[in-house]
This record gives sequence, structure tokens and C-alpha cells, in this order.
Amino acid sequence: MDARYNPRSLEHRGLDTEAFKRSFLEGLVYTVGKDTRAATRRDWFTTSAFGVRDRLVDRWMETTRNYYKADAKRVYYLSLEFLIGRLMTNSLANLGVMQAVGDALDGLGLRLGDIVDMEPDAALGNGGLGRLAACFLDSMATLGLPGYGYGIRYEFGLFEQRFEHGWQVEHPEHWLQFGNPWEFPRPEILYPVQFYGRVEETRDSMGERAYKWIDTERVLAMAFDTPVVGYGGKTINTLRLWSARATSDFHFGHFNDGDYMKAVEQKILSENLSRVLYPNDATDAGRELRFKQEYFFTSASLQDILRRYSQHHSGFDLLPEKAAIQLNDTHPAIGIAELMRLLVDKHALQWEHAWDITQRTFSYTNHTLLPEALEAWPVRLVERVLPRHMQIIYEINGRFLQKVQARKSDAATLSKVSLIDENGDRRVRMGNLAFIGSHKVNGVSGLHTELMKQTVFADLHTEFPERINNKTNGITPRRWLHQSNKPLSDLITSRIGSGWIRNLEELEALKPRAEDEVFREEFRRAKRQNKKRLAALIGRELNVEVSVDSMFDVQVKRIHEYKRQLLNVLQTIALYNDMRDSQTVNWVPVTKIFAGKAAPSYHMAKLTLKLINDVAKVVNQDPSVRGLLKIALLPNYNVTLAEIIMPAADLSEQISTAGMEASGTGNMKLALNGALTIGTLDGANVEIRDAVGPENIFIFGLTAEEAGALRHGNAYNPRDVIAANPPLKRALDMIASGVFSPDDPHRYRPLIQALTDGGDSFLVTADFQAYREAHEAVADLYRNPDQWTRKAVINTASMGWFSSDRTIAEYASEIWNVEPVLPEE
Ligand SMILES: *Cc1c(COP(=O)(O)O)cnc(C)c1O
Repeated sequence: MDARYNPRSLEHRGLDTEAFKRSFLEGLVYTVGKDTRAATRRDWFTTSAFGVRDRLVDRWMETTRNYYKADAKRVYYLSLEFLIGRLMTNSLANLGVMQAVGDALDGLGLRLGDIVDMEPDAALGNGGLGRLAACFLDSMATLGLPGYGYGIRYEFGLFEQRFEHGWQVEHPEHWLQFGNPWEFPRPEILYPVQFYGRVEETRDSMGERAYKWIDTERVLAMAFDTPVVGYGGKTINTLRLWSARATSDFHFGHFNDGDYMKAVEQKILSENLSRVLYPNDATDAGRELRFKQEYFFTSASLQDILRRYSQHHSGFDLLPEKAAIQLNDTHPAIGIAELMRLLVDKHALQWEHAWDITQRTFSYTNHTLLPEALEAWPVRLVERVLPRHMQIIYEINGRFLQKVQARKSDAATLSKVSLIDENGDRRVRMGNLAFIGSHKVNGVSGLHTELMKQTVFADLHTEFPERINNKTNGITPRRWLHQSNKPLSDLITSRIGSGWIRNLEELEALKPRAEDEVFREEFRRAKRQNKKRLAALIGRELNVEVSVDSMFDVQVKRIHEYKRQLLNVLQTIALYNDMRDSQTVNWVPVTKIFAGKAAPSYHMAKLTLKLINDVAKVVNQDPSVRGLLKIALLPNYNVTLAEIIMPAADLSEQISTAGMEASGTGNMKLALNGALTIGTLDGANVEIRDAVGPENIFIFGLTAEEAGALRHGNAYNPRDVIAANPPLKRALDMIASGVFSPDDPHRYRPLIQALTDGGDSFLVTADFQAYREAHEAVADLYRNPDQWTRKAVINTASMGWFSSDRTIAEYASEIWNVEPVLPEE
């Protein structure tokens, strides 16, 4: 008899409507502990999620067994952020049981949509970087790659954003409050992580130096596993998130003194490590707790990786053939020093040997060139929190600089490639550590990778010309089209079949349909349906009435000066003035839709949000614009909201200062859903233009090269630019004189000053005219629905290459050297 046979589990595994209904009812009673009379919607969500989860477990364990059997090389994706969103629809769609579960709930007098809405949005990330990690998990599972995600199980995800009197107010996001039915706690998978203490140098029996890290404070990392269902449900991978637990011996000293309460306080403090996600985007917090979080999850993950490897291998020579560790930005870069510590101090490998293994195991993805966002931890902090790692970093650096020096002795190069920044207070350059400790370093779009070679890593690139490579980001078509845009998804499938869900390049077959009048009509109808849903949401949330006939002009992303929401606001005000001035022009009605969070300490970004709300208040109720212009700033942008906005967009705003957006992925989601892009030649916009063709996208403004020259030269005077552009001057004067803030006329002085005295670092004024003209071209096209829809269809049909399946396939063959392990049929 099969040792795994369990008659009870069988009735939990049927995939038909009746089987789901039975298990939901049973789960309600025996897992949730309610009867049908007392059950709330949340209870029904919980029981449904458990019912669906039951269907995953067998194939999940089978996937793991297959990996062991094949002794497969695994990919470990280390990321401080996973911006996952909800999992119910994702699990149902990837398992192919959406209909059965919908019908089962229907039979119980419930609606799937209502149940899905009870799920909290798992926001364990800030923005693009975290969402990329989530898309990659989906793609690895769909491609059958043995991929594990490793991160932190934050008790509080990214804050919940509300607007009070137009200002952003942050509220804690307690997403675990009602439990998380998708996760499996693993109290037995527990690793100690050490901090502080000191290093003792000793001699081993052979007289060699050895180092002991002693008198440390210890915290335990406990695993929580979430199954990651690939499309089709064949491969189910694991996302393992670590939660901090106090060690049982933690308070021993205090107990001896009889100070019980103090012991408990210490326990609570040590568990703060996994309490909250740092709400920064692109800028660094520079806080000790953050540094400790980075080491906490990296150390636990490495211990777990070595444990898994060592179950079936002795020694560590094969580690690079059995494990590929990808560093998602520098947040886990301390892992390079940690693996060296484990190999040298714990397992007594020779330094050179350990270094060779380390370099061949790690690879690193760079996500930003913004200097303020490059992690550099003060040496004094690293020394205090991780004294042994600091020594190891010095040793890595010493050996590395010696090699560089052997080739050239130029001191300027040495100081630039060094792991230590000696300017001011000494800091450890985590980017350089990640670079030197990896065999591959990648950027996330063609332009970004080229700029990496020319700027941050110019000297390291000269030292290692083969190391930098490009992996343009992608998005999963499962979540970002198949699940979130049913009208368009069904339309596409009706014409070309459903192969595109796995192989997005099949969308190419839609291109001829751009000339098919019936198809265009149906394409418009799908868009209209999605716009209705968003319009209803805007009505509910903001009490603003918007017309589905207006052009939905969408800018949704984190609020940041380089993303230039301010440029959009200025164009909006100029359009507002035009519409009031010229009552006889046949204006295209426009709804400007914004959403995005500002880091709580980022004052300019928060002021920008307030400005959008202030302008909206004036514009939305001004009878002289005759309803032609509406502005909606939706609160609390997250994955769930994005899934409603993306399908409803006509126009996608991707207007960052050229050279500053590493890739962007919002640009891809919107174009895939048939929005036309208005954008600068930045990040992946460049590749989107190449894919859809320059005639199907609105590119404007300075190039990265021109922007760089302007920013670094001294010929640029924003005041002259403003003076020469009356609509721009008028818009700025209105803001500066309090037209939108009569209660506080000087409220926006910092924004105005940044554009004038401040030198306009993000070139808002420099790009304003080109942006305005691009918007005029957009409006002209929108007046012709047939021409517009042709281009929209071509956009959707051309986005196949931007599937994260393509990105992951490139990582797999060019960086990781891993192959799929497909289940036996
Ligand atoms: C895709 C996504 C992002 C990234 O958007 P960009 O426009 O690429 O900056 C950020 N947040 C959420 C919730 C997303 O879904």
C-alpha cells in the first residue's frame, strides 16, 4: 500500500463542484469552527482557501520529492521584498478550478467575487522590486524550475495609505490579523542568527589561524512556507519566509536574577526583527534594524540552503553545481560574507577554495543607479553588529585590491573599486561587495545595463568585462492579463486559443486583427467594461463621477521626484486652463487617474500627493470645465488595486527623467492590457518602443544622454525655460499663489523652489513643452477611436517578449545554468 494513502484526504482533493462544496462545508465546521448560520464572509474565505490549499499539498510535496530524486540544481531567489497581492484567484486560475469553485460557492449562496474580496493584500514589498520577485516565483513554477523564494514574513506589510484633508496618512497594515490560510508554519525549521559579540582568534591543531565569533546575541529564524502554484498546477514551488523568535535561553540571565518581566521584554524586542517592512522606495533608511533584518533573513536562508545541500552531498565542491543564489538588489549582499564565514570558520575550508565556491554560487541584480539608493553601511555599524563579517569584508577587499594593483597602480581606480568608501565616515559599499562576490551581475533593462557599465560599476566593469549582463524585466501574464482582465483575456482566447497564457509570444497572432473591424469593436467593448468597473470604484472611493467615454490617463506607481508626477500635474493644470479658455474647441474629455504611496519621510513626495488632491478639488467641481477634465487620486495603491486599474487604462504615463528608471514593470502591465504609452526613452520604455513600433507609442523629451549632459553642465537655467513658456509659467504661478491652496497659499513653495532655485534636478521644466505636445498628439489620436484601437491592439499583440517567463528563461540559461524538472506523467 502507498504509504501516503489517506482516505480522508481523497475527499478533499476532488476538483469538481460537488467535491469543493463538500470540503468547504466540512472545513467551515472542522477547521474554522463555525456553522453555516454563524459564518461570516471572512469565514467563508478562510474555509475556501483551506479547501483550495488541500488540493495543492500532494502536488507540492511531489514537486519537492522530484527535485530531490533528480538531485536538481536549485535556484534560491533572496529578496527582502515579495509584493505578492492576493492568492485566491491566482491559485484557482493556475489550478484551473475557477469555474468549479465559483459554482460550489454559488451552491452555498455565495459569490466568488465577494469571497475573493475578503482576502488581505499581501504587501511584503514597496513596489517594482518586490513585485518582480513575485512575478519571478510565478514564472519559475510555471516553467518547472526548482526555484525557492526566501524573504521575511513581516507581520506588518507596507503601510495602508489614507488621505486625510488631502494629506497622506500611514496606517499599519496588519495583514495577518485574521490568520493566513496559505502559509504552513514550520516550527521545527529553526536557525539561530547571531548579532554583536566579538571575535576570538585562535590556532587550530595545525597551527593555522581560526576565528570564533563569541558572546553574541542570538535570535531564531522560524520558517513559514507558502506554496507557489505554477500555471497548470503541475509544479508547486515554495516561498519560505522567516519570522523572528526569541531563543529559549535568551532570558536565562534575567531569570537567575528573578527579573521575569525584563526577560519577557527582551524576548519581545528580539522578535521585532520581522515586525515591519521598511517603507522606502529607492532611498535607503540607514537604520540598524534594517541592517539586522537583511542579515537575519540572509543568514537563515544560507543555513537552510547548506542543510538541504548537505543532506545529499559531502564537502562543498559541488555547491555551485547544485545551488544558484540570486541577490535581488544588495539587500542580501551580506550573504557573500556570510557564506565565506560558514565555509571558512564553520567548515574549515581554505580561503581561496571558499571564495571560488562563493563566487560561482552567487549572482546579483542591480535595480537602481540613484546614488542615494546604493546601500553603504557605516563600517562602525557593521563592526559592531557583525564583527566577524567586517573582518571577512576587509580580507576580501585586501586580496581583491592586491590583484587590481598588480595590474595597475592607479590610486583613483583602487579607491573606486574598493569595498570601503573612505570619503567621510567610512562605509561598506554593498554594491561592490555584491559585484565582486558574484559571477554575474545584471541590470534590468538594456539602457539601465549600459548605464551601469558607464556609471556605478564603470571601474569594476573594466576589471571584469564579462560579468555585467542584461536581463530585461518582465511580468507574469497569468496575474496581469489572464486573471485581472477577463473581458480581454476571453476575447484573445476566442481568437487564438489559450496558448498565450503559457507562451505570451503567441499574442503576435493578434496583429492582423488590428485591421479586423469586428475584433476592434470587441476590443473596445472589453476596455469599456473594465473602465466601468474602475469608474464605479472611483465613485465609491472618492465620490467623483467620471465618464467612461473620457480618456483614462493613468499614472500609478510609487510617488518619487524622478518619476515626475509633478510633470503630469503641471500638464493637467495647463490643460485645465486651455479648456476654460477655449470653450469652442472639441476637447477630448480626460480622466487623470493617479495612485501611489510616498515614503513616510519623503516630504516632497507627500507634498506632491497633497497637490494632486488640491488640484483635483478645484478642477472636479469647476463648472467652467464642463466635466471635460476629472482628476482621481485613488488611495492605497497595491497589487489588488493595480489589477483593477491596469485593464481600464487608455493611456499609460511612463515619464521618468531619462536615465533614472531602471526598467519599470507598470509600463509593461499597462501596454499588455492595451494602453498606449506616453513616455520618455527610459528603462524598458526603450524596448517597449522597439517591440510595438515607434508609431504606436508617444515618446517625448530628453534622452538619457541629453538629460545627463544638462544635469551635469551649467548651461541649464529652469527660470529661463519657465519664462519662455507661458502655459508653464501660468500653471506654476497658480500653484505658487495659492489658487489650489487658498487655506495655505505658500504650501507648495518647496515644490516651486525645487523647480527654480533648486535647479530642477529632474528636468521637469526642460521636458514640459515636449510632454505637452505629446499629449496633444495623444488627444488627436483619441478623437479617432478606430485608429486608437488599431494601435492598442498592436500594443497588446507586441508585448509577448515582456513575459517574466522569457526573463526567467534567460536567467536560467545564462546565469543560473538550471533546467526544468518536469513531473512524470
Ligand atoms: C507593478 C507595480 C509597481 C511597479 O510600478 P512601476 O510603474 O514600474 O514603478 C509598483 N507597485 C505595484 C502595486 C505594482 O503592481
